[in-house]
Amino acid sequence: MNAPIWQIKKDICDIGHRIWLKGFCAGNEGNHSVRISDDRVLCTPTGLSKGFLLPDDVCVVDMDGKQVEANPRGRKRTSEVLVHLAIYKKRPDVKAVIHSHPPHATAFAIAGIPLPEGLHPEAEVFLGKVLTAPYALPSTQALPDSLTPLITSETNTLLMGNHGSVSFSTSLTDSFYKLEILDAYCRILLLTKQLGRANVFSKEQMTDLLKVKAKFGLPDARLACAPEGCIGTDNDDFLATFDNPASAHCDCKTGEVEKSGASSSGGQDFEKLVQAITDQIMAAAR
Ligand SMILES: [Zn+2]
Repeated sequence: MNAPIWQIKKDICDIGHRIWLKGFCAGNEGNHSVRISDDRVLCTPTGLSKGFLLPDDVCVVDMDGKQVEANPRGRKRTSEVLVHLAIYKKRPDVKAVIHSHPPHATAFAIAGIPLPEGLHPEAEVFLGKVLTAPYALPSTQALPDSLTPLITSETNTLLMGNHGSVSFSTSLTDSFYKLEILDAYCRILLLTKQLGRANVFSKEQMTDLLKVKAKFGLPDARLACAPEGCIGTDNDDFLATFDNPASAHCDCKTGEVEKSGASSSGGQDFEKLVQAITDQIMAAAR
C-alpha cells in the first residue's frame, strides 16, 4: 500500500536534510522526486536548500513536467525535473530519483575518469557498473537525452559529465543509500590513490562476488559475459593516475589477470608515502 502523500512529502524533506548534512549539495543545488502514480510525481522546488525544506515546499508535476497543483507556498518545481521524468519513463519500476553533486564522485565526472571496478565489494554489489554520461547543459532537454541511452534494467546510478550524479531505485531511502555508497566509494578511491597502489580483484574473486550478488536477486551482466567476472578496461584510466601502480587488470580477451607497472617500495617511496598521508591529515584538520 502506498504511503499517504503527507508522509511522502515529509520523507522528501527528511532525505533532503540528510543530503545536505552529507555535503552532497551546496546552496540550492540538487533535487529529488518520488513517483506517486502513473502520471504524478512529487519533486523538490527550485531555488531552495535541500536541507531545510518544508512539506508544503514540495511540488506536484505530471509526466510532462507541468506543475499540476498550485503550491501552497508558491514554489516552482525544480528545473531538472526532466531528468527525473526521463528515468521514470524508461524504468517504470523506479519510484524515486535523486540528483546531486557529491564532491568525490563529481571529481571523477570532471576528470573524465570512468569509475573503476573490481576494487570494492560494496560498490560492486549495490551500484554495479557506474557509467558517465557526456556533459550536457543543465536545465535543458540535452541533460536527460545524455543519460537515457545509459539506462538499462541494471542501472541505478550514473555520473553526469562535469556535473554530478543521479541515483534511482524503488524507494527514496534506497536511492539515497546509492548516492551515499557512490560518494563513499569515490572517496575511498581517492584515498587509495594517495597510498599509491591498488589491488584489483582477480577474475575468480570478481566471479565469486558477482555470484553472491546474483543470490541477492541482483543480476549483473558482467557475470554473464565471457569471460565471466570480467573487469573491463575502464579501470585503466584510474590506474594510470597512480605514480607507482602495482596493480592488476583483467584482460577481457584472455580473462587472465596481468600484473602491470612496478611494485618496488624502497625507503624513499615509503618516506614519500608517509609525507603524503601526513599532508592529508594536516589538510583535513585545518
Ligand atoms: Zn545539478
